[in-house]
Amino acid sequence: MADTYDVVIIGGGPGGYNCAIRAGQLGLKTAIIEMRKTLGGTCLNVGCIPSKALLHASELYEMANSEFAGMGIGTGKITLNLEKMMGQKADAVEGLTKGVAGLMKKNKVEHFHGKGKIAGKGKVTVTLEDGSEKTLETKNIVIATGSEVTPLPGVEIDEKQIVSSTGALELESVPEKLVLIGAGVIGLELGSVWRRLGSEVMVVEYLDRVLPTMDGEISKQAKRLFEKQGMIFKLGRKVTGVEKDAKALKVKTEAASGGEEEVLDADVVLVCIGRRPYTEGLGLESVGIETDKRGFIPNEHFRTSADGVWVIGDTTHGPMLAHKAEDDGTACAELIAGKAGHVNYLATPSVVYTRPEIASVGYTEEQLKEMGREYKTGKFPFMANSRARTNHDTDGFVKILADAKTDEILGGHIMGPHAGEMIGEIALAMEFRAASEDIARTSHAHPTLSEAIRQAAMGVEGWTMQM
Ligand code: FAD
Ligand code: NAD
Repeated sequence: MADTYDVVIIGGGPGGYNCAIRAGQLGLKTAIIEMRKTLGGTCLNVGCIPSKALLHASELYEMANSEFAGMGIGTGKITLNLEKMMGQKADAVEGLTKGVAGLMKKNKVEHFHGKGKIAGKGKVTVTLEDGSEKTLETKNIVIATGSEVTPLPGVEIDEKQIVSSTGALELESVPEKLVLIGAGVIGLELGSVWRRLGSEVMVVEYLDRVLPTMDGEISKQAKRLFEKQGMIFKLGRKVTGVEKDAKALKVKTEAASGGEEEVLDADVVLVCIGRRPYTEGLGLESVGIETDKRGFIPNEHFRTSADGVWVIGDTTHGPMLAHKAEDDGTACAELIAGKAGHVNYLATPSVVYTRPEIASVGYTEEQLKEMGREYKTGKFPFMANSRARTNHDTDGFVKILADAKTDEILGGHIMGPHAGEMIGEIALAMEFRAASEDIARTSHAHPTLSEAIRQAAMGVEGWTMQM
């Protein structure tokens, strides 16, 4: 006889495991199916966590080489032990994925290791590691199968010479010449890692700007700063193919509008032109679910078109971010349990973990203009912030956008030290629908970087020197 559940979740990433935890807490009989050896999904295994471990270590390596002496810190010759750096990354991943397995037990969630497939209403089959099949019966199915790398026709990923982010997190030596296809989040983060460790990094981007979804002013300054660090950008260009011999790669590019060919030499090419939903072999047809033309499963408050089937995280619409998937998962479990559950994507921050960090929440200036919404702007540079000056870390600025009439905060954009931590203040303000005057009148400790946020808010009110 098949086992029966209230909820069966397919996919054990941040969406799936947070949904499972909340469902378990709410007393629902829950199972989670994951085909990877460990839980945690893309984020913990090959995404957020390993990339941040390498970003942190490579940043310290670069600082030790170029900044310590200026602060009076003498060191011996700084050397790179890449194997050890990769080892500390693996430790972080292992510790966290084990932690998720522990959370499943604690919340009485049954964990199946295998590939899940929907087999009609209320039925999920799991192909286990030994090839045998198990059938689970359930009132609710949650699809949390995440996303995969978008392939580029003519550029075949082998994860050694031509890599996706997964291969770029596992390189065994520092490439002399690294060509990135795509100047988005992965390109700038992993490009920073390998540049700091010694690679010459060249970035080919189809559009005429880096980080195209960020506020225009931020993306302009970001390009300038990354160029100063040594990255070379080839904007408005596309890769038409990569020729491969035993060692070297020839990356063929041309202008996005056609013509103007240029061939770039590389030891390693990283394809990072975005990610697409992963629903391969999931049995969507058995319950009549159709994906949109980009492969996403449409949802209405996480409900799909099929009765009792829900979808969360990267597989459906909204930003492809771990904390968005987590929020979806929690809200979905609450809705399944008959409670209220809602996620406000406008107040979902997004962070690029480069140096300086780049963080954003809410609308960009470009979006507000397109919407015809009247807004006020306040800006404050870290160059004028006492803590940033003290730490010799003054690149970047804070920008706050607020409604011209009501003063409600509509967006916040920070480029600078600890931007990823600081954006939380603006996200919280937006969640509470605060006015920029609320931030301007809130006491901020001195000397802190967060005073720059207050100053930017004061700028919206016209109380401070603007940039
Ligand atoms: P996933 O994490 O992709 O999890 C889905 C899981 O489902 C996978 O483990 C997969 O094996 C499993 N699965 C799929 N199909 C089946 C099936 N049929 N049966 C069983 N299991 C199945 N986001 C951030 O917010 N911050 C960051 O710093 C960040 N850094 C990133 C760095 C990189 C290099 C990458 C690639 C991504 C990064 N992301 C980051 C994005 C983040 O990883 C994703 O948004 C997040 O993991 C999505 O969570 P999810 O649960 O929807 O899907
Ligand atoms: P992205 O969408 O951030 O950037 C892709 C870039 O590639 C864009 O600038 C796009 O214009 C460009 N591009 C598209 N097709 C191209 C082509 N044919 N030639 C040249 N350029 C092309 O995607 P990504 O960097 O691959 O990252 C995927 C997703 O993973 C992100 O959207 C994000 O959701 C997630 N992620 C998040 C973080 C983070 O939160 N810190 C880190 C890494 C990844």
